[in-house]
Amino acid sequence: MRILVVEDEPAIGSYIQDCFVERGYSVDWVTTCEQALETAVVEDYDSIILDRRLPDKDGLFVCSELRSQGITVPILVLTALSGIDQRVEGLNVGADDYLLKPFAMDELVARVQALIRRSSYRNQPNLTIRNISLNSLNRNVTVNGEQIPLSNREFLLLEYLMRHADQALTRSQILEHVWETQRDSDTNIVDVYINYLRKKIDVPQKTSNIETVRGFGYRFRYED
Ligand code: CA
Repeated sequence: MRILVVEDEPAIGSYIQDCFVERGYSVDWVTTCEQALETAVVEDYDSIILDRRLPDKDGLFVCSELRSQGITVPILVLTALSGIDQRVEGLNVGADDYLLKPFAMDELVARVQALIRRSSYRNQPNLTIRNISLNSLNRNVTVNGEQIPLSNREFLLLEYLMRHADQALTRSQILEHVWETQRDSDTNIVDVYINYLRKKIDVPQKTSNIETVRGFGYRFRYED
């Protein structure tokens, strides 16, 4: 596994690098947005750990640039900025996870491992999480082996949630990816479709695969 660390504070950068190297990762460490972009567009990383307060720009710039170039490498944003707004801001420009400083190294490692594991979901046509299987080629969805008919939009919504399982997604993120629009005023439609999906995949089985994340959005449950 190969990761890129973008961190301008030497003590933190070298600490992260040492800890991941000890665990068998190959680690590149850079200190500015410019260097991060230069390396990340040519190298094939399994994950990027990205500080926000960097000398040249906000680290989120790296995130939005990479996403606009179609680079889907999982990104964990690491920052001292706190609060839900900053978190939402990060996720809306394409970050996959967010960890506040100061952090415990074990937690950082666990989050990065989870990101790498989840990112492998994004490219498999067949995906099974707990009792739900989804096939993106023939658009089949089964729950406990039983085929569930879904509308096109319901399928796209379920696919997006499942390919980002265990990740809290904002309504804007969902809207942007499933409806391909950024009009925030339309987020109500996300709630409507989440309800349609729950009625088809959760209610009959008395399960809760799609969880509400209060004040934030939704998450597809990865573990029981
Ligand atoms: Ca910094």
